[in-house]
Amino acid sequence: MINIKNNIADIEQQISLACQQNARKSEEVCLLAVSKTKPNSLIEQAYQAGQRHFGENYLQEAVEKIQALKHLNDLCWHFIGPIQSNKTKLIAENFTWVHSVERLKIAERLNNHRQQAIAANKDLKPLNVCLQLNISEEISKSGVSASELDELANFVNQCEYLTLRGLMAIPEKNAPKSTYMQMQRLFNQLKAQYPSVDTLSLGMSNDLAQAIAAGSTMVRIGTAIFGARG
Ligand SMILES: *Cc1c(COP(=O)(O)O)cnc(C)c1O
Repeated sequence: MINIKNNIADIEQQISLACQQNARKSEEVCLLAVSKTKPNSLIEQAYQAGQRHFGENYLQEAVEKIQALKHLNDLCWHFIGPIQSNKTKLIAENFTWVHSVERLKIAERLNNHRQQAIAANKDLKPLNVCLQLNISEEISKSGVSASELDELANFVNQCEYLTLRGLMAIPEKNAPKSTYMQMQRLFNQLKAQYPSVDTLSLGMSNDLAQAIAAGSTMVRIGTAIFGARG
């Protein structure tokens, strides 16, 4: 049987080792547990082990889980999957973070829907946004290209109901170190331009150490916590 508590402890250990090797503090790196396709019972086990940040990719599935787990009222939900326009309303209503904003039109819709959500629930804060960068351009089609990043960042920064927090990327498998270094450079540039930027969402089960070496502040870990997905 899978032992979620041990797996989380193991990942925390890997994070702290990678931080040590790069003269960073482990508090600088947040562990986001990616629970897509996994049942609520495993999310509850992770919660019991102290995990609070969870990432989901598929909106329908995510919204059902968020409803079912409402009693765990300090859970923080992050949307990390591709976003179609017709999904922005539910994302704005249900999540605290979204990592996968790559188009102006999507940002604009999220901003409008978050405004409505806040009007209905004064406890809600602006939605935390990371821009998804297409860092391995030949391989992947999702994400904004580096040349269009400025315009999108500037737009999100001006949205009253969105908070620009940083960048997210999914490097190709076995991406060279230069890819990670480029990500770090773009993140540092963005941070210098916008005071609200503090998050580099980079690193998954297989590239956690490279990501932390490149300054990642949030690693998105699925398989290493919850096991392989079917
Ligand atoms: C599925 C997924 C992850 C987790 O990947 P693992 O390899 O299972 O750790 C992280 N980020 C995104 C965007 C994902 O879709």
